[in-house]
Amino acid sequence: MNKDSIISLPNKHLRQKSELVSTITSQIKKTVNDMISATVNWDKSRDHEIGVALAAIQIDRPVRVIIVKDDYDNKESQSFTVLINPQIVKLDGDLVEDFEGCLSVPNIYGKVPRYNRLKIKALDLSGKEIQISAKGFMARILQHEIDHLEGVVFVDKIKDNPTAFFVLDKDGKLVGLDYEKDIKKNSILWQ
Ligand code: ZN
Repeated sequence: MNKDSIISLPNKHLRQKSELVSTITSQIKKTVNDMISATVNWDKSRDHEIGVALAAIQIDRPVRVIIVKDDYDNKESQSFTVLINPQIVKLDGDLVEDFEGCLSVPNIYGKVPRYNRLKIKALDLSGKEIQISAKGFMARILQHEIDHLEGVVFVDKIKDNPTAFFVLDKDGKLVGLDYEKDIKKNSILWQ
């Protein structure tokens, strides 16, 4: 599986809730492998962006599975943490606005408020319960991915904020978008 298996807006499946995983079958394990190969392939295709994490719905499988890259600064790394049925146990710290992108929202970035710290619980691939405490960028990633399981895309969180939307130019710099023209009337984002 490669980056072309990643679905993007306006695909309506991205706004659907994903199903709880009741048994970790070979099909779920295959989904995890497909998610990893799609993310690694996407990451290699981009010079100025990183593919850090993915939810199963992004390859059109509506199950509650996410993967998060362990060493996200390293494009060569293919090591991922797999989280099945992840759930937020506690959100903590300040709400912080920072840039966020999504493999299913090509080219658009947003300044999204997220909690600075959180604790989650999930199952690993062997079915064992694990707890993870995270802060900063990793806390942001986990909130973004768990949102995907609820059918929420990052643009939905900032849709009424005229100064929150940006585009990556060819040199890898984020440039503010025209809210009325590029965002509010953008049929790809809000279909
Ligand atoms: Zn995303």
